[in-house]
Amino acid sequence: MYPRVVIDLNKFSQNVEKVKEQMDAYGIDIYGVTKVFRADRELSKIFADQGLSAIADSRIRNLKKIAGLPIPKVLLRLPMHSEISDVITFSDMSLCSELSTMELLSEEAVRQHKTHGVILMTDLGDLREGFFDRDELMEAVKEASRLEGIKILGIGTNLTCFGAIIPKPQHMEELLELGSIIEEEFGLSLQVISGGNSSSYYLVNDGLMPSGINNLRLGEIFVCGVETAFGRRIPGTYDDVFVLEAEIVELKKKPSKPIGESGMDAFGQKPVYEDKGQMLRAICAVGKQDVDTEGLVPMDPCVDIIGRSSDHMILNMTNCLKKYEVGDIVRFRLKYGGILSAMTSDYVDKTYINQDYESKNMRNGLRMEEGYGNY
Ligand SMILES: *Cc1c(COP(=O)(O)O)cnc(C)c1O
Repeated sequence: MYPRVVIDLNKFSQNVEKVKEQMDAYGIDIYGVTKVFRADRELSKIFADQGLSAIADSRIRNLKKIAGLPIPKVLLRLPMHSEISDVITFSDMSLCSELSTMELLSEEAVRQHKTHGVILMTDLGDLREGFFDRDELMEAVKEASRLEGIKILGIGTNLTCFGAIIPKPQHMEELLELGSIIEEEFGLSLQVISGGNSSSYYLVNDGLMPSGINNLRLGEIFVCGVETAFGRRIPGTYDDVFVLEAEIVELKKKPSKPIGESGMDAFGQKPVYEDKGQMLRAICAVGKQDVDTEGLVPMDPCVDIIGRSSDHMILNMTNCLKKYEVGDIVRFRLKYGGILSAMTSDYVDKTYINQDYESKNMRNGLRMEEGYGNY
């Protein structure tokens, strides 16, 4: 069934292996972020097989789906007060920035006879989540460290999300300094100093990451093979783990400029089309209701996307040497938003290829042990 997304498990596994090797060399462990693919079981399993230290997702619903995978689970989005019970049941750790939330986590953890790990988020200027005020952070540590059922595992930060702020060594130094103050003032030992997401990768790659940062939470780098501070491709990784396939339902020569008085299109926009003469135009059966069409890049370089509506994409095929026909499949590489929307869509089928990949741990004969996810 089309449209469908074809997921290459071998390429994904190699992306994870490549980045992990590099992080291992710097003593940085990785939480593999599964939200973009809704904690798809096959892909999440690769994170576990490759020996990442935890799986992290923003949604408890996703973590619930992979509850059976023997790897610790981290909730990335600040817990909602209304989901505390599931947070304790289905995640081992969460990122927190509110004392009131930690109090509820504590009560529920005690009720469920568990210890829940907490990573305190600090906002270093991107202005999404995290303690911004140092005194408030210290006060929260003081209170939270007395709570039963939760354990302060460490601190973290998140950049390049809301404010698009690029992580710099100074941000990391500031995080380390906050960590030292917390350790000294409250006699805590912090196991995790989490320096961000795929936008912090370059600091490690370029030798700029201060020592002491020992964790990153990485998603996009594995699915797209790019770091996200500057959008550079990571050598030795693939950018086509996810490929969207759509079928041509009409192929005709038509003019390039619509005929008649122009008003608004289906989305209230007033498009302007240049007259480029006759064109070979293909209509693909995939549109905005199926997937975020802005996140699609044609893999055949002669194909140009010229229009999008709810159900269709219109392609210019004039420059193609290959003779496309009605019923043929056009392939698109997916950018982050494309993967996110395709994996979340009911209208896009999912298929795996190269399922017989061998992860490094399998080659070395190591097996995952059951039940090491206990804090
Ligand atoms: C999504 C998310 C990440 C992972 O970001 P990528 O850019 O995909 O690596 C890390 N931390 C938090 C808090 C997130 O929400």
